[in-house]
Amino acid sequence: MRSHLLNDTTAERYRRSVTEGVERVAAKLATTDRPFTGVTVDTLTPVIEKIDLDRPLGDTTAVLDELEEVYLRDAVYFHHPRYLAHLNCPVVIPAVLGEAVLSAVNSSLDTWDQSAGGTLIERKLIDWTAERIGLGPAADGVFTSGGTQSNLQALLLAREEAKAHDTARLRIFASEVSHFSVKKSAKLLGLSADSVVSLPCDQNKRMHTVALAHELERCIHDGLVPMAVVATAGTTDFGSIDPLPEIAELCAQYGTWMHVDAAYGCGLLVSKTRRDLLDGIERADSVTVDYHKSFFQPVSSSAVLVRDAATLRHATYHADYLNPRRMVEERIPNQVDKSLQTTRRFDALKLWMTLRVMGADGVGELFDEVCDLAAEGWKLLAADPRFDVVVQPQLSTLVFRCIPASVTDPAEIDRANLYARKALFASGDAIVAGTTVGGRHYLKFTLLNPETTVTDIAAVLDLIAGHAEQYLGESLDRAS
Ligand SMILES: *Cc1c(COP(=O)(O)O)cnc(C)c1O
Repeated sequence: MRSHLLNDTTAERYRRSVTEGVERVAAKLATTDRPFTGVTVDTLTPVIEKIDLDRPLGDTTAVLDELEEVYLRDAVYFHHPRYLAHLNCPVVIPAVLGEAVLSAVNSSLDTWDQSAGGTLIERKLIDWTAERIGLGPAADGVFTSGGTQSNLQALLLAREEAKAHDTARLRIFASEVSHFSVKKSAKLLGLSADSVVSLPCDQNKRMHTVALAHELERCIHDGLVPMAVVATAGTTDFGSIDPLPEIAELCAQYGTWMHVDAAYGCGLLVSKTRRDLLDGIERADSVTVDYHKSFFQPVSSSAVLVRDAATLRHATYHADYLNPRRMVEERIPNQVDKSLQTTRRFDALKLWMTLRVMGADGVGELFDEVCDLAAEGWKLLAADPRFDVVVQPQLSTLVFRCIPASVTDPAEIDRANLYARKALFASGDAIVAGTTVGGRHYLKFTLLNPETTVTDIAAVLDLIAGHAEQYLGESLDRAS
């Protein structure tokens, strides 16, 4: 079995094995003509169930053959131009190369003595990101597993900085379309059930700052503590960006921690044409960025940045075996001192490879392309009487619904749209997401693939309209 260990004696086997796997994936990517096969849970479950994990196949080629059956054949392929559903991007090759390197070397970024150069690379990328944001000379941060963890850590720091004796009095303000991880974080942080105050949005799905001002005032009046305002720079559903300068102003006025959740909008940091959409982000106390959303990085790759490095101390604990306190005096850079995680992947390497090969402008160009595409798609939808589209996109999201001319009952329209989404998924021709707006069912395109064209969008809209018509036809048959 030692022949399976990656070391000096098995370098050749490693090369052959990984190459064989890469060849399979390359062949798959080259021949995938749909984002999905439409496989059902019922079809796939027995295929996986019949595999006996206590009877290994022993041989890489056989296992790759099997992998075709259990995974590769029916996987959901984000690189396909008609995958338009969630915030998943196609990935850039330098980052995939970085992934291969980081898992083979397997550095762990908790301590210097498990990573050496890895720690310095991560730190440099954190500094680079903080500088792009404009957080100032005392900024710092750390890579995380995703936006959820970044938001949790940011709110942990905010809770500690609020210095409230009674956590039941702490309040967090976020818009009604902020990410659900804000509420989850509040729960994990032991805040009260009503700690997250949900603020209304304007018709463009941006936080109403008049409402925010009103709620902050009321919070103080009620003897409560405004712990943090979470501004979203790129809401998950609409790509809308809350008015950051106004929010920063209010946070300064009330001495409230300003967190900017830029999990989606962070791609603007490298945009040559739209960076101004993030104006005001430089006033944040903390920022969440998901490179795995708008920097074309493989999952996972994310970071939390803070204006004041000292606030990261709230996540600092020392263990004699790992990062004893004396190491701080010895100035040994242990990233675990800043992280909620201990053993931690060297995800930063993917971004490093990307910036070194493509450059920041290269990434920004790709993100600009999908934002341009969304603007085109919006025009298409706005001009098409078969559809109702909400919110002109600031980023790359389109939310719309099919409104068949023959139907007036909104509940029936809901059902037609739900049906269309399901039918499309089952066909595998394209994948779209869904959400609700004003209690009604809508469909959503999240455009993150520069290979997607306006023609793709038009074709998928036709497919959706076709499925909706089919539903209504069948529904008529049922009624008669
Ligand atoms: C995706 C998203 C998150 C959560 O990020 P994960 O990487 O999925 O954990 C948080 N906030 C916003 C606005 C998001 O779009």
